[in-house]
Amino acid sequence: MTSDVLSFKELQKIDPVFGQLSFDNHEQIVFCNDKDTGLKAIIGIHNTVLGPALGGTRMWNYNNEWEALNDVLRLSRGMTFKSAITGLNLGGGKAVIIGDAKTQKTPELMKKFGEFVHSLSGRYITAEDVGMTTADMDLVREVTPYVTGISESKGGAGNPSPITAYGVFMGMKAAAKFKFGSDVLEDKSVYVQGIGHVGEALVEHLVNEGAKVTISDINQERLESVKSKYDVTIYGGNDLYSEEMDIYAPCALGATINDDTIHKLKAKVIAGAANNQLAEEDKHSLLLQERGIVYAPDFLINAGGIINVYAELENYDKQEIMRKTENIYSTTEEILERAKAGNITTNVAALSIAKERIETRKKEQAK
Ligand code: NAD
Repeated sequence: MTSDVLSFKELQKIDPVFGQLSFDNHEQIVFCNDKDTGLKAIIGIHNTVLGPALGGTRMWNYNNEWEALNDVLRLSRGMTFKSAITGLNLGGGKAVIIGDAKTQKTPELMKKFGEFVHSLSGRYITAEDVGMTTADMDLVREVTPYVTGISESKGGAGNPSPITAYGVFMGMKAAAKFKFGSDVLEDKSVYVQGIGHVGEALVEHLVNEGAKVTISDINQERLESVKSKYDVTIYGGNDLYSEEMDIYAPCALGATINDDTIHKLKAKVIAGAANNQLAEEDKHSLLLQERGIVYAPDFLINAGGIINVYAELENYDKQEIMRKTENIYSTTEEILERAKAGNITTNVAALSIAKERIETRKKEQAK
């Protein structure tokens, strides 16, 4: 799902790295290999103007290396704009480990990965993403200080997912207010796709507010576990995109808004945690705008996690983390209004604010 933007054949036709469509003036791309542990990883550093490149590590069983590279390029670029728009002094980076997190992740592999992170002397700071846990970050911490998202007992801010979910909830409410005239989600039908760490915490907020929540996941155990805790419906169909709903919350992997799905979508608002929800940003955000579907940009509303890990670097307390995360509501409002006023897509509006901040800092640094 992450890399279905281009087919393998299409990817092979273009230059391997700098010619990739997802390449967007990344500063550094590091390929990491270790025969003994089986580690194969790529670290992408997109931009460090605002600060060190911080972003999580994803472990995924990619079909091929092109997919992994494409994913890390897209994800690291997204981190640059996420931190910029959230007002954090961080650049954008991300890492991917190629492999099955369930069967191929070992403590040795995680520590070797940590050594590669360490070799970058702090230009890249890692954290957890899909396929990673706080315990994995604790292992990385044994070999490098350039890691966040470690457990609270080791001085970290703990699992970022509940904070991410709270930020998504804030962004969703702001988008609902824009579309429906009220941010109250009671009786609104919300489809949460992917009920992992973030998805489940989002479900809890939604159910508490009285939303009509439908959940979907490829993992049957997760579905049953979440269903046993909350008043939700498990999606039984095979084409979620075509369903009538008020809000679609993508909380699995990226690129679910693509050529195949966009014309089917009946949702009025899209607000979820997944990174890079639009397979092709310009094209698909424009199509959403034309169809009157309000899209709350992913990199804006899923910033709770990065706020949480940033707190480890800046020694923020929980109150400050929550205040900054709650702020996602007003930033989302600002972006939706900016898009409306300028007749531009919400994605372009959000990117323009992020880019303005980076350019201003660049000019200051050049003085
Ligand atoms: P997770 O691995 O805990 O959960 C992902 C869930 O999606 C799993 O339950 C998985 O089974 C499910 N899934 C995978 N493919 C699916 C499909 N095709 N259809 C339905 N379900 C599917 O991950 P997470 O930490 O909850 O993160 C979810 C998304 O949010 C990711 O895209 C991640 O990059 C993004 N994100 C997470 C954080 C965070 O703090 N964890 C922060 C920012 C962004």
